[in-house]
Amino acid sequence: MEDPTDAAGSLDPADWGALREQGHRMLDDLFDHLEGLRAHPVWQPIPAELRAGWRAPLPRQPAPLAEAHARFMAEVLPHSVGNAHPRFMGWVQGGGTAVGMLAEMLAAGLNANLGGRDQMPLEVEKQIVVWMRELFGFPATAGGLFVTGSSMANFIGVLVARTRALGEGARRHGLRDSGHRLVGYAGSSAHGCLARAFDMAGLGSDALRRVPVDANHRIDVAQLAATIAMDRAAGLQPFFVAGTAGTVDVGAIDPLTELADLCARAGLWFHVDGAFGALGMLAPGVAPLLAGIERADSIALDFHKWGQVPYDAGFILVRDQDDQLAAFAAPAAYLARDTRGLAAGSPWPCDLGPDLSRGFRALKTWFTFATYGTDAIGAAIDRSCALARGLAERIAAEPALELLAPVALNIVCFRHRGGAGDPRFGRRAADRAALDRFNADLVADLHEAGIAVPSTTVIDGRLAIRAAVVNHRTDASDLAALVDAVLARAALRLGADKTAS
Ligand SMILES: *Cc1c(COP(=O)(O)O)cnc(C)c1O
Repeated sequence: MEDPTDAAGSLDPADWGALREQGHRMLDDLFDHLEGLRAHPVWQPIPAELRAGWRAPLPRQPAPLAEAHARFMAEVLPHSVGNAHPRFMGWVQGGGTAVGMLAEMLAAGLNANLGGRDQMPLEVEKQIVVWMRELFGFPATAGGLFVTGSSMANFIGVLVARTRALGEGARRHGLRDSGHRLVGYAGSSAHGCLARAFDMAGLGSDALRRVPVDANHRIDVAQLAATIAMDRAAGLQPFFVAGTAGTVDVGAIDPLTELADLCARAGLWFHVDGAFGALGMLAPGVAPLLAGIERADSIALDFHKWGQVPYDAGFILVRDQDDQLAAFAAPAAYLARDTRGLAAGSPWPCDLGPDLSRGFRALKTWFTFATYGTDAIGAAIDRSCALARGLAERIAAEPALELLAPVALNIVCFRHRGGAGDPRFGRRAADRAALDRFNADLVADLHEAGIAVPSTTVIDGRLAIRAAVVNHRTDASDLAALVDAVLARAALRLGADKTAS
């Protein structure tokens, strides 16, 4: 490509024809990548010299676009997390789609700023809000907003509930002199971002009480009620309960109806962290398990997980948009509104959350839903749950493996039992640590071999190999490959240990 400064001082190319050709090559490379995913390793470690090559000084001079593209293909793409790959089951991450990718390109080409103003891109975002109201049975007064992810959506949920509890005055005075004694509640297996939200909201992470969960990893509602009563008796001010619809560790769904009842009785804000699970409403097999979510005051969810929309696409839905406005709207002369012209269309998204400049996350979400249809996305969600159940059956049938938690949705937690009769894997605490290490090593082995990417978590004090089936590309052969690889690597490690001793 020509020196980009040639085009009369702008960054547009001097030769659009050449750019067009290069652009088509880039698009084709990505189609090739998506089409051939399964043939490649899920992940490859980053060689030290490659990493070192990305500590260069500022590039003062231009370089050909083709060169940057070549570096992306050779150096970035092969060493990314690999969550698009069908054998990626680590953490809870979506696989994305080609349609989402194309929509993202259109959004970047448009370069819309969705902070506000009277523009069609905001109507696209409002379309998603309308769809989410419909999906969750929320009223027409509900407000919604795209954000980075559920960490931010949960934070917004906490802030809206906080303003609701303390009044708008607290936004000016802050919390220091308010004498507030706000406390909120979530199950012990709730996502860590909720405690961080309490921290960032100035309430302190200790103000989020972690309530014990039952044998199915669901919040114990009787204990929750007892804790609330105790806190009230101690002069604290309970204001917020977060139920989780799909916990990250095992995929448990808190008893949402019971939580809704309790919150209604106690006058508490009922928030649902539905980061990955809430879109289960699209799946006939999962939706009934989410009963009660329609009674939430706010729901945090991610389109980039089970919704298969490319990163990032988080969303917060608030039952009454006025609560959201009360928490965020602020006057500013340079953001004055009008009833006509581009400054019309108030309220704007910047009145509903902390961001002013915002990208067009709604477009890739709209394309994904409109193109595939939500039934297909729901079917992929149901399929991932069926795959998880199949994986659990296989694990139950393998004497060397054991399940560590019931499979409620799409997440399977298991481990290798270690060498039968191997003295290192007895019942003493030190041996438990060795067995934990053994399983963690198996997971790292699989990562480094590029075969499959499960992650780990800790269930009842024991390290678990965790497979979260989120990607629409994952099929039964991928899960068979995971189990085969775990067994083979374990045999290798145990065999190697025996030879060594
Ligand atoms: C993923 C997840 C989060 C965090 O969401 P991000 O989009 O990663 O910020 C919070 N809660 C649960 C239950 C999750 O699965």
